[in-house]
Amino acid sequence: MIAIDGPSGSGKSSTARDLARRLGLGYLDTGAMYRAVTVAFLDAGVSPDDTDALIAATTGADLAISLDPDDRWVRVNGRDVTAEIREPRTAQHVSVISRIPACRADLVARQRALMDSDPRGCIAEGRDITTVVYPDADLRILLTASEQARLARRGGELGASVDAAELRDQVVRRDADDSLLVNFTTAADGVLELDTSDMTLSEVVDSIVALAKETE
Ligand code: C5P
Repeated sequence: MIAIDGPSGSGKSSTARDLARRLGLGYLDTGAMYRAVTVAFLDAGVSPDDTDALIAATTGADLAISLDPDDRWVRVNGRDVTAEIREPRTAQHVSVISRIPACRADLVARQRALMDSDPRGCIAEGRDITTVVYPDADLRILLTASEQARLARRGGELGASVDAAELRDQVVRRDADDSLLVNFTTAADGVLELDTSDMTLSEVVDSIVALAKETE
């Protein structure tokens, strides 16, 4: 098992996906699960202020996610939401779910079960994988990057569809909200920190592959 955490735009999704391909492991995008539950509560018309209803929407969600890095999809309550979870509306509301401890506990349990279900072993990425979801992983890495590098990367991913204010909302505001319950800016004991500000994706992947070989 490999656990990767980091803030928005640190490159953890691309890194984890490429690592899974290189190492022949499953890939779990835990952020996609928080996003899928967000789509479900918005679809159901649940108010973001109604904590009990948000907990019910999370624990009651029929959630399925692919662990195949080459065939990524997420389904919630029978609906494919793979594209919808990337829409700005989802990013704007997702911290509502991630700030409720009971919602986190439910998703963490599902994440552990998913990781354990893959006979190849798994790479999971998120905010609390190295500390809460899988502190016993063989390799635990915190990816960091300067705010400038993170804004540039996320801007490149989202393209011209978002303006500068929306981009800051998706990176800086969301990280501030997300870090209220979870620490993903400093590495916990035993977690290796990798500052990727001046590294290419393949340099990051190569260095983690080398670390994975050392721990074998
Ligand atoms: O990684 P991604 O940007 O897709 O994550 C979406 C949101 O899900 C984060 O902004 C955060 O609120 C939440 N999240 C979390 N813990 C994780 C993964 C994601 O709280 N392990």
